[in-house]
Amino acid sequence: MTIKDKILVVEDEKSISGFLRAILTANGFDVIVAHSGSEAFSMISSHCPDLVVLDLGLPDMDGMEIIETVRQWTQIPIVVVSARSYERDKVQALEKGADDYITKPFGAAELLARIRVAIRHTRTGLTNSAIASTGKFTAGDLTIDYDKHQVLIRGENARLTQNEFRIVALLGKCAGKVLTYDFIMKELWGPQSRGNNQILRVNMANIRRKIEKNPAEPQYIFTEVGVGYRMIEGDG
Ligand code: CA
Repeated sequence: MTIKDKILVVEDEKSISGFLRAILTANGFDVIVAHSGSEAFSMISSHCPDLVVLDLGLPDMDGMEIIETVRQWTQIPIVVVSARSYERDKVQALEKGADDYITKPFGAAELLARIRVAIRHTRTGLTNSAIASTGKFTAGDLTIDYDKHQVLIRGENARLTQNEFRIVALLGKCAGKVLTYDFIMKELWGPQSRGNNQILRVNMANIRRKIEKNPAEPQYIFTEVGVGYRMIEGDG
């Protein structure tokens, strides 16, 4: 079983969000819908979507504000879908950190293509060029398969939970670098999670039990005491 990519649709018009939900679900995505900006913020924090499809005209705030705020704490891809077709709106959205901008009305095929590009781009936009070319990170017996959302040990599925996978996936993208506890928490659980590292420690204990030969002497994910975690550098 693979975990599907989860897309948050932020759209107040029910007919459009219904249409988006239908085409995205039919094409293998999990879909959640927010009908306002405030709902969008809480769902990004609590559901950790892989991508946001964002309407600009929302009842409680302008979508531009959402892009700006979300970019203060995460690089999650944002694809704007808007009726505003002026070049200045596109430029503003992209400058604030949107990954792409599609004008309504749009075709389903175009939207799907752009969503796939945006997901792949963020997944591979980080430091690791092996991930960019193969969709995989490999170090010794450990393989992170970013397309299938799986971690393999000697070719066997390590059966990580979704949260455990997200932690390992993030460390793999930044292999060789120390990621602080706060950075990992913020990336995965949103800004309100800062300062509470207990959930991270529990997840890491479970990850090590599943991927390390001897969890007390890790070979893959190292603890930098008082700072954070570091994934061993990948092969090749
Ligand atoms: Ca709207």
